[in-house]
Amino acid sequence: MSAARRVIVIGAGLAGLTTAHRLVQQGFEVLVLEGQDQVGGRMGQRRSGPIPYNTGARLIYPFGQALHRLIDELGLRGELVPLKGLSATCVDTTQRHTIQLMPGAAVLRTPGLSLGTRARLVGSALRLWGLRRRVDPDHAASALIGPGDESLAEHVRRTLGEDALRLLVEPVFRATRSWNPEDLSAAFYLSTTPHLIGQDTTYSLRQGMGQLTGALAQRLPVRLNARAIAVRLGRDGMPCEVDAVIDGRPERLPADLVVCATEGALAAPLLTQASPEHRALLGAVRYNSLGVVHCALQGELPRAMEFATRRRATRIATWQQTPASGTQPALLYCQLTPEAAREAQTAGLTGQLDRLIGDEVRARVPDFESRLIHRHNQWIAHKLPSFYPGYLARVRDFLAWQASRPQRLYLCGDYLSQALLNGACASGQDTADLIARHWR
Ligand SMILES: Cc1cc2nc3c(=O)[nH]c(=O)nc-3n(C[C@H](O)[C@H](O)[C@H](O)COP(=O)(O)OP(=O)(O)OC[C@H]3O[C@@H](n4cnc5c(N)ncnc54)[C@H](O)[C@@H]3O)c2cc1C
Repeated sequence: MSAARRVIVIGAGLAGLTTAHRLVQQGFEVLVLEGQDQVGGRMGQRRSGPIPYNTGARLIYPFGQALHRLIDELGLRGELVPLKGLSATCVDTTQRHTIQLMPGAAVLRTPGLSLGTRARLVGSALRLWGLRRRVDPDHAASALIGPGDESLAEHVRRTLGEDALRLLVEPVFRATRSWNPEDLSAAFYLSTTPHLIGQDTTYSLRQGMGQLTGALAQRLPVRLNARAIAVRLGRDGMPCEVDAVIDGRPERLPADLVVCATEGALAAPLLTQASPEHRALLGAVRYNSLGVVHCALQGELPRAMEFATRRRATRIATWQQTPASGTQPALLYCQLTPEAAREAQTAGLTGQLDRLIGDEVRARVPDFESRLIHRHNQWIAHKLPSFYPGYLARVRDFLAWQASRPQRLYLCGDYLSQALLNGACASGQDTADLIARHWR
């Protein structure tokens, strides 16, 4: 292999950092460009006054080969904080019930489910358990069944019933993923749930979710505040060039190969010279958006985690209260429903999300205004890639094409694997393996 082979990785999220780390291990010369003032992308943490918050992920799931291998390799296994038996109170129009985030036998005690649905839940759990060896939680496309691609809503209605969709599946997908089940392929559920059955533990990191991406970045040449604006692909043996604005100054950086590890929705404008295959895939990428209002309050707030069902007249999908602890005041976390997030966009209120939910919050927290210490509106324009029915088949075809011949430009990120940390990490690992295979 030519030791001088120089790779520019655009984006220091988990996917880009994993690619860069693996390429350095294989002897490539790597430079990572990150547009923000910190690494991690959607796996990091920030602070607004007294409010600490995540830039994205909160939980590391127990599955994910590439991710758990990396955690071990970085010596972070002991830094994982186990979170056992996470649950939420699901609030419907007529009832409140407990939902376990990790599926288990307790689901059978959910009030409001028909006897038939309870029986089908048992059969479905056995079928899902049987899928464990066939489906890969790092790659949602591994669960595509047949030529059709059912939506999650259709799948749950067909295999369990409308009541299971309304009381169990839909509230969790809306409150945690901001996805409506009719917009999502069943492949996400079918590739992950089999690996969750019988598990009751997820993890966070002792020093916050940015600990892992921070540890990776320490081993790599990363330029922060370095926003790529165009990629020129080298032809006929000429190097590629990346135009970037670094600390406010334009720079042109040469490279033999470029890995674009930005959010999928941000890649197309950089890659105007990309092939029809790249453009077709990037044209199919869609993301949802997330709005969260964080508040720090004086006085006490009892611990609570509530998910709203879709039938409730509310703009808040997730309501979380965290009691005060040490110098940390009590915290309130209000995550907007997918519909309220769209409303915020349409009304130009993405910087003033609190205006959309102010009445609800005041109605629920006595003396809210006088207790408020600090408020932060968090808007994530690209929360998760939407694996809508039909999308993952295009991903599968694109990845087969990308692997079929040496490329100057490689795409990588969760939108090509699984809309989770383990997917981003696996995509980074796969991309580095591919480059090593093509260019050694
Ligand atoms: C609110 C939220 C909650 C989530 N919860 C979980 C969870 O609990 N568990 C879980 O497993 N997953 C969760 N996820 C998903 C997980 O965070 C993502 O799948 C994963 O972090 C994506 O990593 P990535 O590297 O593909 O993309 P990103 O982390 O988005 O990285 C892309 C990077 O590219 C940079 N960039 C973009 N454009 C440019 C440019 N032009 N030049 C230079 N840099 C650029 C960005 O700043 C960013 O740092 C959650 C995501 C969100 C948003």
